[in-house]
Amino acid sequence: MGLTDGIRSIADLDLRSKRVFMRVDFNVPLDAQRRISDDTRIQASLPSIRLALDAGARLICGSHLGRPKGKPNPAYSLEPVAARLAELLGKEVTLVDEVVGDGAKNRVQALRDGEVLLLENLRFHPGEEKNDPQLSKDLASLCDVYVNDAFGTAHRAHASTEGMVHHVAEKAAGLLMWKELEVFGRLLDNPRKPLVAVLGGAKVSDKIQVLKNLLDRADTLVIGGAMANTFLLAQGKSIGQSLAEPEKLDLARDLLAGAAARKVAVLLPTDVVVAESLEAETGTTVQAEKVSEAQRILDIGPETLAAFGKAVKSAGMVFWNGPMGLFENAAFAHGTFELAKAVAASEAFTVVGGGDSVSAVNKAGVAQKIDHISTGGGASLELVQGLALPGVVALSK
Ligand code: ADP
Ligand code: MG
Repeated sequence: MGLTDGIRSIADLDLRSKRVFMRVDFNVPLDAQRRISDDTRIQASLPSIRLALDAGARLICGSHLGRPKGKPNPAYSLEPVAARLAELLGKEVTLVDEVVGDGAKNRVQALRDGEVLLLENLRFHPGEEKNDPQLSKDLASLCDVYVNDAFGTAHRAHASTEGMVHHVAEKAAGLLMWKELEVFGRLLDNPRKPLVAVLGGAKVSDKIQVLKNLLDRADTLVIGGAMANTFLLAQGKSIGQSLAEPEKLDLARDLLAGAAARKVAVLLPTDVVVAESLEAETGTTVQAEKVSEAQRILDIGPETLAAFGKAVKSAGMVFWNGPMGLFENAAFAHGTFELAKAVAASEAFTVVGGGDSVSAVNKAGVAQKIDHISTGGGASLELVQGLALPGVVALSK
């Protein structure tokens, strides 16, 4: 069973002269002057938007931006987004200064085939995050067709991602959403073997369910980053001042036992880069057994990197989430950036998810060589945990 089962793609709909509401993810970072500092998310929505406009749809785009907490706030206006979208599309994009109401209704009525408007920040309305039934109906009344292309918010049951979908006759996944579901569906149900999952990042507790669910699917679990520290501790190694979760030792032991029972190989660091402070300008490589009381593990060592790289190289499919070290400090970024390069160089189908992991792949300059970079950190981790996403469930027939 794939994740797209029972869901239609925007590519299968006849959109001519239809009022199409497209939930997009325009939650872009803005600088102090409210200029867009990274328009990746707008760019990522363009294929679905262009498809709809070329098909003659009357397109209504909706998105949230930041956390305005249910009230209009000019600091979170989609104005800069509307301007950038107009530039990218080479056509006028009208920004409607409200979410629902007579103004919005009138602007939608006036839309002609192939025209697009953008509603103001959906979270200006107090009903959006509450999945309010009235707002859901009001949003639905604006359109004939609902399309969700905002994978990054599909794990939230909000009026624009879940509530309104039940009141629209025709619904579909946008191209970006479709690709995410197709890739994660394959990862979970029919991966190219061997499936190698590389996990890292700050905490085990953030990703317990991810680890558990992968135990039943992966052939090899590669564990680095601070997450590995808890496992090293569980194996009786001393880890000095390293970030770890001593209250999760039993869980770590259970996971290791579960892996052994299922014949899943687990790779942990055998050598590590340590320093006495997070701000240190250099680190020292030591064997994982030799971390002293004053030291902190801040990166994986070269021997570990070689072993992790080998696993990634011989994989059929790779899923990577979580940096291998404190990569924000250049002195401890080597393991993460080199692992990113190893993932990029692998012949395997490679998938990267997670905000910091995606940023590491970009900083390492290898994003072009990754087969799938997920646009939703939280949503992708929920899928890998085996959870159903409310925004995806709502799309099924
Ligand atoms: P993602 O956003 O990709 O899901 P996480 O948010 O789980 O990843 O983890 C990223 C954070 O983990 C980074 O801020 C990184 O500095 C931190 N981290 C990784 N390894 C270590 C370590 N050994 N010590 C301290 N912090 C670490
Ligand atoms: Mg993160």
